[in-house]
Amino acid sequence: MRSVEPEVYLVARPQIDYDAMAAYLREVGGERWLERIDRGELEAQDLVEFAGKMCYRSWEPGLNPNVRKVRDDQAVYLQNILKQAHGSVLEHASFSFVLHNVSRVFTHELARHRPGTAISQESLRYVRLDELPFWFPDWAREDAELMKRATALLNELEQFQLWMAGHFGLDEDETRMHEKKHKTSFMRRFAPEGVATGLVWTANIRTLRHTIEARTDQGAEEEIRLVFSKIGEIMRTEAPALFGDYTVTDGTWIPGWRKV
Ligand SMILES: Cc1cc2nc3c(=O)[nH]c(=O)nc-3n(C[C@H](O)[C@H](O)[C@H](O)COP(=O)(O)OP(=O)(O)OC[C@H]3O[C@@H](n4cnc5c(N)ncnc54)[C@H](O)[C@@H]3O)c2cc1C
Repeated sequence: MRSVEPEVYLVARPQIDYDAMAAYLREVGGERWLERIDRGELEAQDLVEFAGKMCYRSWEPGLNPNVRKVRDDQAVYLQNILKQAHGSVLEHASFSFVLHNVSRVFTHELARHRPGTAISQESLRYVRLDELPFWFPDWAREDAELMKRATALLNELEQFQLWMAGHFGLDEDETRMHEKKHKTSFMRRFAPEGVATGLVWTANIRTLRHTIEARTDQGAEEEIRLVFSKIGEIMRTEAPALFGDYTVTDGTWIPGWRKV
């Protein structure tokens, strides 16, 4: 048994081709909008604002004869998007995270969130368990008797994994991949649901806002609350105008504008 902590790595974020945007904006007379942008600073926010302004051709007053006034300040513009629940424009910006050392308890819950996500999860049919990495929350670590019994149980399960691998001859040269997969999948049934594993999870901003709220709720499970608090902190840095409306109390993230 190896004691681990759930970790979050942001591995991909939107990247804008500002030259291509400029070429389009020259076509429609909206170049001045791009001049106001601090290129490369907050690209997710630039992308969302770009998508929103395209809807009404509101790069500047008069391009659409119906529009006499435009919001020049990006933060103000994006707050209005949230306020108006114009959430579809948030779907253009996606972020990819590696969620490392998370349990199968966590991944079962995460997979319930469907729109705007992509998942690639470590396969425990291919990847043989030769140890059982496991996260213990602080309150459990402080309980000596619990830790003694839990560690003994996990060590026994780990030994059983190793015994099965030998028993099935999985490291023998002649054992084919098909047979390894078959037996590895059988063996994982003897791993606890708390075994630490990992996945790549991609979500757009609309989905991120909804899942951060749902999964940091007081009623949510402690591991997923921990991970989504970390994701919330990352997103506040990545797109402050789109995640700055949350109030965080005791780890619960409550948005200023709900259900965008
Ligand atoms: C604290 C907590 C406790 C939970 N307990 C349980 C439990 O005991 N048992 C259990 O089975 N689940 C449980 N869940 C999971 C929960 O029921 C949802 O399945 C999960 O949170 C996904 O959220 P969502 O329904 O908002 O869907 P998401 O997939 O996150 O979708 C986001 C939004 O898109 C819309 N949407 C998505 N799919 C559809 C659709 N097919 N049709 C129409 N609109 C759609 C909805 O407005 C939805 O809110 C729990 C979740 C939480 C946060």
